[in-house]
Amino acid sequence: MDLYEYQGKELFRRFGIPTSEGRLASTPAEAHAAAEELGGQVVVKAQVLTGGRGKAGGVKLAEADDAEQKANEILGLDINGHVVRRLWIERASEIAKEYYLSVTFDRGEKKPLFMLTTEGGIEIEQVAEETPEKLARLHVDPLEGYQPYQARRLIYGAGIADPNEQKQLLDIVGKLYACFVGTDAMLCEINPLIVTPEGEVRALDSKFTVDDNALYKHPEIAEMRDPESVPPEERAAREKGVTYVKLDGEVGILGNGAGLVMSTLDVITLAGGRPANFCDLGGGGDAQGVVDALEVISADPQVRSIYFNIFGGITRTDEVARGILTALEQIGIEHPIVVRLDGTNAEEGRRILADSGQGNLHVEPTMLEGAKRAVELAK
Ligand code: GDP
Ligand code: MN
Repeated sequence: MDLYEYQGKELFRRFGIPTSEGRLASTPAEAHAAAEELGGQVVVKAQVLTGGRGKAGGVKLAEADDAEQKANEILGLDINGHVVRRLWIERASEIAKEYYLSVTFDRGEKKPLFMLTTEGGIEIEQVAEETPEKLARLHVDPLEGYQPYQARRLIYGAGIADPNEQKQLLDIVGKLYACFVGTDAMLCEINPLIVTPEGEVRALDSKFTVDDNALYKHPEIAEMRDPESVPPEERAAREKGVTYVKLDGEVGILGNGAGLVMSTLDVITLAGGRPANFCDLGGGGDAQGVVDALEVISADPQVRSIYFNIFGGITRTDEVARGILTALEQIGIEHPIVVRLDGTNAEEGRRILADSGQGNLHVEPTMLEGAKRAVELAK
């Protein structure tokens, strides 16, 4: 789960990482009030789950008397397909230097990886490509845990020589590690991590991703999820516990198991069609799961046919067949539905479907034949 800048900063503050004071606003009037309250110069920042806001005009300096106008310019702006609905109004900082600091997982090494560079403010990928020697990298052994000497190594490695900055960075690196572990994060990125003209080091931005599978341990972070940041179909699916990703084709896809669903997408493409979604029923196939999934898929106006691809291993396909029929009784689906059943009890499963008398059900014996049929029916 990705967090907005202001949410990430709230977690940073909780772990003692210095940030600037700010307020949330969703209207120009609120932005004005926030700027008045903060006093002096402020920065009006679009809160969207994408980077590059600065370049896109989503970050603007303002005084109390033009904060409202700046807010008006930024609200409603489309930044990489994300429409701005919220603003973070922050006391403006004076910037002498822009550094970059992050901690993420290095899956290859199976260890958290810190990265630090004095070339902050720009995309880290660009630094890694153009001046890799300026990017200090350091792994933390999860069994040994974080040790302060590692931060010193990281800071020297980045070529930061000012003792005052070193001292603050040492503290921030330790706190960022505590934050990363303490929130079960996958990424904590500060870009830029600024040094003010007075020599104070502070986080000016945050990019924060928390492991979805750990959210049950952090209900206060789970609550930060903005339901409007995901498309409505995906929201409905999540509420029903269905794994669903919208794609842009016409053939609705439903399968049991992520691997099977992935190959079903390929087979639909091979048959000359385009999948409308990815939808994984998981190991089950009970009537309620099928009802939920069919509801989500058929709500997509682009869907012309539905391809139901089931392989019964532990799942018994006769049970899935009954689930499909119960589902069709509960919700009227107009779309043609092609079903490929194979595996445990497949013959019985197919017979149940064939005997059902449901006119829009088409049973096919193999994955490829099923895909061809579904593509044909979507024309
Ligand atoms: P991003 O473009 O989405 O990464 O948004 P950032 O929060 O990183 O802001 C982009 C840039 O705006 C920063 O790199 C800074 O140069 C500038 N900026 C952000 N906040 C301030 C501030 O308080 N004062 C000044 N002078 N510049 C700021
Ligand atoms: Mn940034």
